[in-house]
Amino acid sequence: MELGELLIALREIYRHMRLKVDGDRLEKALREMGEVGATPSGGVSRLALSDADREARDLLVSWFREMNLEIKIDPIGNIFATRRGHEDSKPVVMGSHIDTVRDAGIFDGALGVLGALEVLRTLDDSDTETVKPVTVAAFTNEEGARFQPDMMGSMVYAGELGVEEAYESRDDDGVTVKQELDRIGYRGEDSLTPSCYLELHVEQGPVLHSTGHRIGVVEGVQGIAWWHGGYVGQANHAGTTPLELRRDALLGASDLNVRLRALAEEMGEASVATMGRLSPSPDVINVVPGRADFTLDFRQYALRLFTEGKSRVEALVQEVAEHHKLERSLRQSADAQPVRFDAAMVDLVESKARELGLSYMRMPSGAGHDAQFLSHVCPTAMVFVPSIGGRSHCPEELTSFSDCENGANMLLECVQQLAGRRL
Ligand SMILES: [Zn+2]
Repeated sequence: MELGELLIALREIYRHMRLKVDGDRLEKALREMGEVGATPSGGVSRLALSDADREARDLLVSWFREMNLEIKIDPIGNIFATRRGHEDSKPVVMGSHIDTVRDAGIFDGALGVLGALEVLRTLDDSDTETVKPVTVAAFTNEEGARFQPDMMGSMVYAGELGVEEAYESRDDDGVTVKQELDRIGYRGEDSLTPSCYLELHVEQGPVLHSTGHRIGVVEGVQGIAWWHGGYVGQANHAGTTPLELRRDALLGASDLNVRLRALAEEMGEASVATMGRLSPSPDVINVVPGRADFTLDFRQYALRLFTEGKSRVEALVQEVAEHHKLERSLRQSADAQPVRFDAAMVDLVESKARELGLSYMRMPSGAGHDAQFLSHVCPTAMVFVPSIGGRSHCPEELTSFSDCENGANMLLECVQQLAGRRL
């Protein structure tokens, strides 16, 4: 074999060599990040823009610096760290968030950011050059546990929330987002335009764990509608008021709750409806409740059924009010349309799961994620890994480290395809 042929053969072998992330290193990073804001109950609290959030950001940035990544901070405090490509073009972006709710687990959000970091470390280890640059992103305040709205960083990034409006959001102590961004030193001026976006996340639901699939190929995010409502009847004596003369607001709300469940079952197609809060008044043992305030949550993945479901929920609130001779009030407080991820990106994720021999299923996301706003900016997809018992937003949140490793390998495979691996 001549030297030229040998080189070509070696190049072919190299091209077919599959890179693999270092699962132990990923586990170490997850555990180290999990120490930041650790609580006595074994959970973690890193509310957005708190001291713990700053500490987590500083740790992440120190890891980025060690790798000589180009670090950018945008006006809402989103962090981007870019590994140079052969071309100076729009980067392939992977990411998620590192803020948490109060007493959360260590995987929600952190896996997407640290899995992406592990991908870059693996590219570094093997001296792999990509054609396009590759970026790790950590978005500000995904959880919305301290400042509303949730998904604030990605929403501002996508231009769906003005940065000045976001700056004015206040926590329970009256402190603003802008003050806290300045205090922790993460209000930047940079920007970054992605070519596409990939997010690895724990499922936060029981589907993958209960069906035994290793990977969720996420096709989109459910539409979410919220309402704050109330029924007003007449408070009266529980002993002297005959049943047929009552206007019992709590009875109306209870009836609504039961019929709401029946409506979701009748609509099917994985429709879910929930009365999450219900407060009667006067809330006394021997008084017919004259008032009952409630919240409603309706979710559905198909746009047509989402639209239909919203109007049926509203009609039901009215129908139940009439049946129980009650006045009603109803105010819609959230209306996030269903999101469908880019078909080619979703297909890519699916093909990589197949290539890696990982069992997978296509599924929608029941929870909101940064990816739903990124999908308005560039082709986007998500990868889910199983949440044991479907638990999340609690210290018991758990995903096996081998599933974390699988998820990071999925990112690695997709990124090499999307950014192009140079030989
Ligand atoms: Zn999350």
